[in-house]
Amino acid sequence: MSGDHRASPPMNRPRADFDAVVVGASLAGCTTAQLLARQGARVALVDKVPDANAFKRICGHYIQASAVSTLERLGLMGAIEAAGGVRSHVRLHTPWGLILVPPGARVTRSVNIRRERLDPMLRHAAAEQAGVELILGRTARRVLDCGANGVELADTAGQATRVRAPLVIGADGRDSPVARMAGLRRRISPHGRFSYAAYYEGPPPEGAPDGTIWYLDPHWAAAFPTDSGLTMYACMPTMDRLPEFKGDPAAGLESFVAGLPSAPPIGASRRVSPAFGKIKMPNVQRGPTGPGVALVGDAALATDPLWGVGCGWALQSGEWLADSVAPALRGEEPLEGGLRRYARRWHRQLAGHAFMIHDYATGRPFSGVERLLYSTGAQDPRVAERLSVFGTRSIGLERLLTPPVLTRAVATGVRARLERRGRVLAGKHQPRGIGVTARAAGGEAASSWEPAGGDLRAVS
Ligand SMILES: Cc1cc2nc3c(=O)[nH]c(=O)nc-3n(C[C@H](O)[C@H](O)[C@H](O)COP(=O)(O)OP(=O)(O)OC[C@H]3O[C@@H](n4cnc5c(N)ncnc54)[C@H](O)[C@@H]3O)c2cc1C
Repeated sequence: MSGDHRASPPMNRPRADFDAVVVGASLAGCTTAQLLARQGARVALVDKVPDANAFKRICGHYIQASAVSTLERLGLMGAIEAAGGVRSHVRLHTPWGLILVPPGARVTRSVNIRRERLDPMLRHAAAEQAGVELILGRTARRVLDCGANGVELADTAGQATRVRAPLVIGADGRDSPVARMAGLRRRISPHGRFSYAAYYEGPPPEGAPDGTIWYLDPHWAAAFPTDSGLTMYACMPTMDRLPEFKGDPAAGLESFVAGLPSAPPIGASRRVSPAFGKIKMPNVQRGPTGPGVALVGDAALATDPLWGVGCGWALQSGEWLADSVAPALRGEEPLEGGLRRYARRWHRQLAGHAFMIHDYATGRPFSGVERLLYSTGAQDPRVAERLSVFGTRSIGLERLLTPPVLTRAVATGVRARLERRGRVLAGKHQPRGIGVTARAAGGEAASSWEPAGGDLRAVS
């Protein structure tokens, strides 16, 4: 990969075993370790789980388009496609109609590959990278000198070893023991929905291989085709719906999905995985740096899975950190400079998205601006395109809420209101909130449904 310096000599630090120790050999950790080593660093990559083929079980498989360039740089896209990975857009069912990526729009397709395939692939690639030493079955239990001196590891028998390195990288997930041990502060914000999902084989959902999301305002559901001809059906209702899932989450999931407007064929499908999910998942945001310490992936930001951003951001933040600190680890500048560069980039790329995601994560219904954007996106292909690019996290809010987009949204809203008033005067008005017609691809009516509150059932 151009920009990588495979041939650079590792920095000579006589008292350190490595230039960096990465705690956590999942998406964020493997990416960071591999890209650091390619730029000349000697890296210890540690995970408490002894199995090189382990994978994260409570997770969907959707990787945002924003991370495709990172996967390409890692050289993994070929292997992902060979393993059956699916490239797709997302269709959005909203109370105002279906939002599709318009034909010819410049929207990069996202990646769908189950974690049981992706995680081992990434870990083996990291292990094979010259400069990475993969150490499995060891738990980081102490950060030495606030990170500036490495970590202490314990094996399954409790036997301790020290790995010395000037930089400790926490890629250890939402609970991040590294962040805690290094004394990095965290900000927690509430989450008002719970999540259940499972994999099914059977007839593909409409629009496949593209995924479909139902914004049920405030509930949420999704159908995402993936490798091996499987589809993941998922839902994230607000907490008041939890009793329907108690005892038999799979039955709760299937009943919820079967009741969606334009429901996908879950009833004609066979479940091939246990139903998995999470009930308590507050958003956790940290640092992402301290003296001699940096956090990547969920350790830095564990955010609402409703938007399917965690895997992509784990890969991307690993890449940003590696590029930011590699010069320092080669001895070309002080480490603090590299850590500051990473923190700036991380905030620039993610802080705005995180703010919005955490606000919606409370379980609230759509705000006025969100309603305006989604209702316009269901009618205006230019706004639909911009919403799709934003949804893949390829642009920030400042490039979504531009004056032209807002002008189109307001104009479309005014036009719709005038049309409605015209229908009222002509005596053809439908009561508001009931019987909103969802437009399917090509503009034909798909079904009609009650958009908010109460039970969501197809009514025609
Ligand atoms: C229900 C649900 C569904 C989701 N669906 C999606 C989705 O479809 N798309 C998406 O993008 N994101 C999704 N996510 C989010 C996604 O799972 C995470 O964002 C992603 O796994 C973060 O990767 P990571 O590498 O940062 O951390 P993790 O994958 O959590 O890995 C952390 C690693 O650190 C290791 N570790 C922890 N502590 C120690 C220690 N003390 N010593 C050594 N090793 C340690 C662990 O063993 C593990 O291997 C979902 C999350 C949930 C809860």
